[in-house]
Amino acid sequence: MNNIVKHSYIVLMGISLLLYQGFTRLSDQRSGEETMESSKKIKIYNPQTDSIQEMNTVNKTHDEWRNELDPMTYMVARQKATERPFTGAYYNEKRSGLYFCAACDTPLFHSDAKFDSKTGWPSFRAPVNEHNVAYNEDNSFGMKRIEVICPRCGAHLGHVFDDGPAPERKRFCINSASLNFKCDEPDKKSGDQND
Ligand SMILES: [Zn+2]
Repeated sequence: MNNIVKHSYIVLMGISLLLYQGFTRLSDQRSGEETMESSKKIKIYNPQTDSIQEMNTVNKTHDEWRNELDPMTYMVARQKATERPFTGAYYNEKRSGLYFCAACDTPLFHSDAKFDSKTGWPSFRAPVNEHNVAYNEDNSFGMKRIEVICPRCGAHLGHVFDDGPAPERKRFCINSASLNFKCDEPDKKSGDQND
């Protein structure tokens, strides 16, 4: 009888230890996710001054982003959702100007590189500079795609495909929700509703 009690005790101790280790690992992962990465210096091209400058990365928690961004931008830029085609603000935008990251204001694309891909998403042949976008392999939904992200804040922008117009052959398929367009045609700003 004593032996049975002893054995049960040892088994229980073993189980508790395993559970404890499991929980510790889980909480390590959780705290790892929420731990703010310290900001790094990266090179970003500034189209206004036509120069490369060092800038700090922008690191915020999910809660901070959720409070700061409109719900659609939060879903797309921070949760990697995709807006429905032909619904975004910029797929049909034809004015001249710059497209900035909706989360951290980094300049990303110039209207000169925009083309009508008929896909219902804003499409660009190239970013404003290779420093101003970063890439991730994306194997979600059983597809092999290259995700395009903002190098400063990590916002999900969209994907890049190899079926764009010559000579680059690239199609940066970007969600309007991750972009903020600043028109440089002074007389056509803010919808011309001054009457
Ligand atoms: Zn950004």
